[in-house]
Amino acid sequence: MAAKIISGTEIAKQIRAELKEEVANLKAKHDITPGLATVLVGDDPASKVYVGQKEKGCAELGIYSERIDVAADTTESELLALIDRLNRDPKINGILVQLPLPKHIDERKVLYAIDPAKDVDGFHPVNVGKLMIGTRCFLPCTPHGIQELLIRSGVETAGAEVVVVGRSNIVGKPIANMLIQKGKGADATVTVCHTRTKDMAFHTRRADILIVAAGRPKTVTADMVKEGVVVIDVGVNRIGQTPEGKAILAGDVDFESVKEKASAITPVPGGVGPMTITMLMQNTVEAAKEQGHVA
Ligand code: NAP
Repeated sequence: MAAKIISGTEIAKQIRAELKEEVANLKAKHDITPGLATVLVGDDPASKVYVGQKEKGCAELGIYSERIDVAADTTESELLALIDRLNRDPKINGILVQLPLPKHIDERKVLYAIDPAKDVDGFHPVNVGKLMIGTRCFLPCTPHGIQELLIRSGVETAGAEVVVVGRSNIVGKPIANMLIQKGKGADATVTVCHTRTKDMAFHTRRADILIVAAGRPKTVTADMVKEGVVVIDVGVNRIGQTPEGKAILAGDVDFESVKEKASAITPVPGGVGPMTITMLMQNTVEAAKEQGHVA
């Protein structure tokens, strides 16, 4: 039986409609307009596209956005001074520094300089630590989006065997941490695989829910999953170009074969991707509420 397709595009649309209403209420009842600053260093084409999508997302929902483009040769101290200014700007509730940064800038120093209360990407160690101990914090956007996809698709995580392929700080580690917490969309038993895992298929075949964030097409094939598995494919790989020059994208999972065994699966594109930006908007709204002392 072919799998149900979990549409991130549809679920993101639903969440954005809810957020739009929340933003309008915040303005009407509390005179608060959530504000997001996006900082882009240099002119990497992919980063420009991502920042543009974030600006568009803000405009759609009525969130104030400030885009700050600085030259690729901006020094680390100039960038830190900019972060300091944004930390103190009351119009700005969330700060996003688009990664990667040029090599002469210490990425960690910049991310750690962001006020944890404005860290809507959830990369500051204060938020990472809070996630680990299970207290309220900004959840990193991609794992947050994955958890929302599972909740809103009615996938039961409590007691489920979840296998995560990948252990990066932005996807693998945080989603594993989120799913072992107590509560809604969590309470799972989680195994994390990586390139040093001895027999990955042994683990993936046990999975009730399989989350793949490896960054390599066809990392997971049909022989590596059991019937009825729920598959969340995080990967975004450019595997070619259309004659018009548009990138052809594929996930990390062999979608065509795996969808025949899975009970549900996310497509690429249209799965996790649209959720990531939506969760950034949600974190910005949360930041505005917290800073404005709105319950
Ligand atoms: P990353 O930092 O490169 O990490 C990849 C992880 O996968 C590493 O932990 C690596 O193991 C593991 N891995 C790679 N090949 C493997 C294999 N054959 N078997 C087992 N483990 C393997 O990547 P990332 O930032 O987490 O991103 C992963 C993918 O998700 C990329 O395609 C990225 O573009 C995509 N992504 C999508 C979104 C979205 O919004 N849709 C957001 C973020 C990322 P080692 O640690 O041992 O090297």
